[in-house]
Amino acid sequence: SRKHKVTVIGSGNWGTAVAKIVAENTLANNDIFQETVEMWVFEEKVELSKDSKHYDPSDPLSQGSQNLTDLINKYHENVKYLTDIPLPKNLHANPSLEDSVKDSSILIFNVPHQFIIRICDQLQGKILPYARGISCIKGVDVEEEGVSLFSETIGKKLGIYCGSLSGANIANEVAKELWCETTIGYDPPHLDSKAPTPVGGSPSQSQVDLPSFEHKDSSGHFSKVKLRPLPNDFPPIDHGLWKTLFHRPYFHVRVVNDVAGVALGGALKNIIAVGAGFVDGLGWGDNAKAAVMRVGLGEMVKFGTQFFGNSAETKTFTEESSGVADLITSCSGGRNFRCAKLSVQRGAPIEEIEKQELNGQKLQGTLTAAEVNKFLKKQGAEKDYPLFTAVYRILEGTLKVEQMPSFIESKL
Ligand code: NAD
Ligand code: 13P
Ligand code: CA
Repeated sequence: SRKHKVTVIGSGNWGTAVAKIVAENTLANNDIFQETVEMWVFEEKVELSKDSKHYDPSDPLSQGSQNLTDLINKYHENVKYLTDIPLPKNLHANPSLEDSVKDSSILIFNVPHQFIIRICDQLQGKILPYARGISCIKGVDVEEEGVSLFSETIGKKLGIYCGSLSGANIANEVAKELWCETTIGYDPPHLDSKAPTPVGGSPSQSQVDLPSFEHKDSSGHFSKVKLRPLPNDFPPIDHGLWKTLFHRPYFHVRVVNDVAGVALGGALKNIIAVGAGFVDGLGWGDNAKAAVMRVGLGEMVKFGTQFFGNSAETKTFTEESSGVADLITSCSGGRNFRCAKLSVQRGAPIEEIEKQELNGQKLQGTLTAAEVNKFLKKQGAEKDYPLFTAVYRILEGTLKVEQMPSFIESKL
């Protein structure tokens, strides 16, 4: 039977750590997967640090600015976004989005959420029509019509089915192979096994007979997505296959059906982590941080129930790695937490701290707070989410961190 080719779209801190995991597993399971994993890199020029163990004054790649992809492929290290972590030799950094996804039946989306829409636009018509995806992105897609999960947006824009992966997974810890758990949500529509198998996915084939699934955003708008069956000489893409691709001795995978719960947990905890960083920045201690987490968890559950009631399950927030565990780790050592804390300590805008401290890595909580607020305002629901609202107003400069406790209690 044919083997799946895997592409990771994205190569930041988490993108690279996930690509490492996946490349280790394609090598270990080369009966199912092609060994080489493509990793799309948003190309940029990087100067190798003189402290790098790869630095060699006689090596041209050590001189001046070089393509990040060339550095990754030569040194098998992402010297900008995941330093000092050896990458598998079967992981190939590719600066061409189109070339990186060519012939790939499995697409892993892992970029800061603000970039994914443009990437999907560029990918339209370039991917295998029967590919399947997993989104590792932590954020939500807020549009005029409502709020959608990126797994749904990707699926809709590319005409494929896409699940989600999220968990308590600080990338630097995972990359060092320190044990953790993660959650994968995957629940594709049931396809009739007698459905016609497209020959090589020829784009000229009529789509009339293809099975479809419905994409529904939070305000009830439907769109039909025609889903092409995977040719039956491929190993099926199911819960077992995702576990084979992602599970490692140090990265324990639980696969569930609740795609929405998994994706929402990863997005909403970033707002809460910013709030936790704010109170910690005042020196208010662990009790205050725990209070922010308690209120935040409640709002996360409420948001899932109110806007994704048919899909998101409460226990995904309260019992899975993608829910409460990610909330805890993100409020301890996450970037959103750390930058929010520094912004209070230094009296500087968080965007400035992000630029100074993260070396090109991106926060998701600040944007997500604004996007979720825009949606809540439109729903007239700000008052039901006082923590999310407080975090947004502090970012916007209309509320002081010191006012958070009374703001949360007053329910506006
Ligand atoms: P990151 O924060 O390291 O961001 C840097 C990446 O963004 C680089 O690959 C850079 O090339 C890319 N980038 C910058 N400008 C771009 C542009 N205009 N177009 C496309 N790409 C551009 O990224 P990350 O840590 O890999 O995060 C990806 C997703 O994973 C996020 O949603 C994040 O919340 C989530 N996540 C992160 C971690 C973590 O610990 N880093 C853990 C779990 C989940
Ligand atoms: P930060 O983006 O705040 O670092 O969170 C990382 C994360 O999602 C850990 O699971
Ligand atoms: Ca379902």
